[in-house]
Amino acid sequence: MKRAIVIIGGGPAGLAAAISAYQNGARDILILERENYLGGILNQCIHNGFGLHTFKEELTGPEYAARYVDQIHALGIEYKLNTMVLDIDASRMRRPAFQRFPREHVQAGAP
Ligand SMILES: Cc1cc2nc3c(=O)[nH]c(=O)nc-3n(C[C@H](O)[C@H](O)[C@H](O)COP(=O)(O)OP(=O)(O)OC[C@H]3O[C@@H](n4cnc5c(N)ncnc54)[C@H](O)[C@@H]3O)c2cc1C
Repeated sequence: MKRAIVIIGGGPAGLAAAISAYQNGARDILILERENYLGGILNQCIHNGFGLHTFKEELTGPEYAARYVDQIHALGIEYKLNTMVLDIDASRMRRPAFQRFPREHVQAGAP
């Protein structure tokens, strides 16, 4: 499977990275998530206080994650759940993303 951008982890960082890549012209994007849901740790953060900066309203972690997941669906960004990355073979990668996109477009995702 060859993809222009593969994002490991569908937590907030991975979702935001995918959306940012799309907004900057990338289309061949795939998110790999080991759990059977997107959103990462935000799904455990049931207190509110999220979303003030980005969405201008107070949201719980799951509500905040859902906003990003909705954007992923709206943009048609592909993702695979129940898919854990076990190894990365650097010899089969083309230039890393940080060499092709300006630094501000590269975000950290899963460990
Ligand atoms: C109890 C608690 C309360 C918090 N409260 C706040 C708060 O009030 N405000 C705030 O700003 N932050 C809060 N945080 C922190 C916030 O949740 C994290 O900063 C945020 O979730 C980090 O996002 P992330 O995408 O980097 O990582 P994560 O949310 O950890 O997402 C990483 C994703 O990658 C996936 N993954 C990992 N390894 C692999 C692999 N090998 N293959 C495929 N998928 C993989 C994981 O399943 C996960 O979905 C809280 C955290 C906790 C635990």
